[in-house]
Amino acid sequence: MSGKRPDAPPLLSLTGIGKTYANGIVALSGIDASIREGGFVSLVGPSGCGKSTLLRIIAGLIEADTGTLSWPASGTRPADIGFVFQDATLMPWARASDNVYLPLKLKGISWKQAEPRVMDALRRVGLADFANAYPRELSGGMRMRVSIARALVTEPPLLLMDEPFAALDEFTRGKLDDDLLALWQAQRFTTVFVTHSIYESVYLSERVLVMGARPGRILADIEISEPFPRGHTFRESPRYIEICAQVSAALREGAAI
Ligand code: ADP
Repeated sequence: MSGKRPDAPPLLSLTGIGKTYANGIVALSGIDASIREGGFVSLVGPSGCGKSTLLRIIAGLIEADTGTLSWPASGTRPADIGFVFQDATLMPWARASDNVYLPLKLKGISWKQAEPRVMDALRRVGLADFANAYPRELSGGMRMRVSIARALVTEPPLLLMDEPFAALDEFTRGKLDDDLLALWQAQRFTTVFVTHSIYESVYLSERVLVMGARPGRILADIEISEPFPRGHTFRESPRYIEICAQVSAALREGAAI
């Protein structure tokens, strides 16, 4: 796979990124990182360390005040970027299929043309039988699956996720973690995943960027080279515990500064 070549240009490169809000809060300072094409990177850190701000800068929803953000592999920011929030943000009056259709509808694609793609996206998240269900008829985990299908229906090269599973129970969360990894392995979009769970970040990612607050900055950049699919053997392995401890130590050191 091309993205694995060490000399391949990264999808995204951040140099000296800083952001101060109008109220004077320095949300980010001196952020340097690059993310390989097809990679899975988590941003982990306490509330207020700038994870969402960084994700929104990457998405182009807000601008950094300092530094540069470049797209070495593609030259420009991808036209399609999938975004998944903690809240599934579905239209309550629309069926699952219509929620997933929305990004294609906004591109002017007719339902007739879009239908196979919508159904395929629902199938990939395990909801083929729930296309006609309304959000209120679905569990929290299922609503999140619809949200993921909606984010992936345009087949974006980049998926940004802002604490997507934080509100779910542990069992559902673990299942969605595994299903997300399976989708990522099959489709190879680049993923930037925000979480405040050390365990989730280590389980999912090839790389964890550990962040600290005031100002928001990167405390450690930890590579996790364990192969995918990971499953419970990785979750229960000494190596997993060891990496979690490493992330935890970096967070503690950051909090002590
Ligand atoms: P995280 O996602 O890690 O919780 P955020 O990026 O949401 O962190 O916030 C980083 C800091 O910036 C916090 O102190 C937060 O209160 C502040 N902040 C976030 N958004 C705004 C905003 N629109 N205006 C002012 N301050 C903000």
